[in-house]
Amino acid sequence: MEPHLSSRVRAFPPSGIRKIFDLASRPGVISLAIGEPDFDTPLHIRAGAKDALDRGETHYSSNLGSLELRRAIAGRMARVNRQTVDAETELIVTIGGVEALYLAMAAILDPGDEVLLPDPGFMVYRSLSMLGDARPLPYQLRIENGFYPDLAEMEAAITPRTRLLILNSPGNPTGQLFPREIMERLAGIAERHNLMVISDEVYDTIVYDDQEAISFATLPGMKDRTVTVNSFSKAYAMTGWRLGYAAGHPEIIQGMMKIQQIVAACAPTMLQSGALVALESRQDFITEMVQEYQQRRDLITDILNSVPGFRCIKPEGAFYAFPDIRGTGMSSTELCEFLLQNAKVGCVPGTVFGSNGEGFVRISYATSRERLEEAGKRMSRALGC
Ligand code: PLP
Repeated sequence: MEPHLSSRVRAFPPSGIRKIFDLASRPGVISLAIGEPDFDTPLHIRAGAKDALDRGETHYSSNLGSLELRRAIAGRMARVNRQTVDAETELIVTIGGVEALYLAMAAILDPGDEVLLPDPGFMVYRSLSMLGDARPLPYQLRIENGFYPDLAEMEAAITPRTRLLILNSPGNPTGQLFPREIMERLAGIAERHNLMVISDEVYDTIVYDDQEAISFATLPGMKDRTVTVNSFSKAYAMTGWRLGYAAGHPEIIQGMMKIQQIVAACAPTMLQSGALVALESRQDFITEMVQEYQQRRDLITDILNSVPGFRCIKPEGAFYAFPDIRGTGMSSTELCEFLLQNAKVGCVPGTVFGSNGEGFVRISYATSRERLEEAGKRMSRALGC
């Protein structure tokens, strides 16, 4: 018997990243494909989860997550994002940032709604739109504009069916940080067209040169229309814990909770206690990680600009570089395959992040400086220098 797969799932593009991960994890390959910190979760945070398990924290928590953790998240949001949120009604703890995105989109979207999403951008936005029978409406991030959106073009694409605008700053895969002026103009667009906004801020602490990520909900009039999505994955090097959260209007959070009740009940209780330790203990290791990423960012930008056919602008946040590789004469996929074969270096074709990613590749510099230097030498050698 042929199993039946829904048309929604059949319409999903296969994950280009998984394929590259598999190839890039072969022996001898330096993988610059992976989007997660190379640091392990600090020991004191791990101890927090172990202690919770020993105390017998093996039961369900509230569907919204434990109130103690939500209070600590509200404290962090006040400190880091300058955002005031009510821990009891405006926050939900989720299974990673991706579940926060899923719940928010499922709570907001009706079939046929249009979703403005970045191209290139985190591919989950497109897949989740399709899962909700909504229509992706990509807005282009071009290197000529510093990977900022062309706001006139974005506004011209909006129709009466456009419901949601997704923002991601600092962004995956471009590493760019939208300046305040762009954020304010985006707020104007959201207001004029009555759009809901999801602001994906999972890289909020990984920002360089003393800049600050602006939390979209803090802009005048934006709090009620914005769902802020965040995660412990990147800031605390906790990817495998699968813990994230979302903040938004109490009605949206209630809507998200209804779905959470069905799909997961709650995030794992003992891990929530570990996350509480992460928020309530010293934060200095975050500064140390970010300083290390910044040095690698400087190194990788210089390295990539010396590779024949590459041009790379300096990323302002996250841990990705997104060089223009059109000078090599190859497509993104051809170049990634070429580098894998001839340089034993793994990177991700820009097209994995949308059709506007053609001509670019994503390089993750969440790996040691020695490996970045070695990867640079191998790429230059393979490309004839
Ligand atoms: N948002 C962006 C832009 C990401 O790059 C990622 C992970 O790569 C996530 C959300 C989700 O992260 P997690 O589900 O691990 O919290």
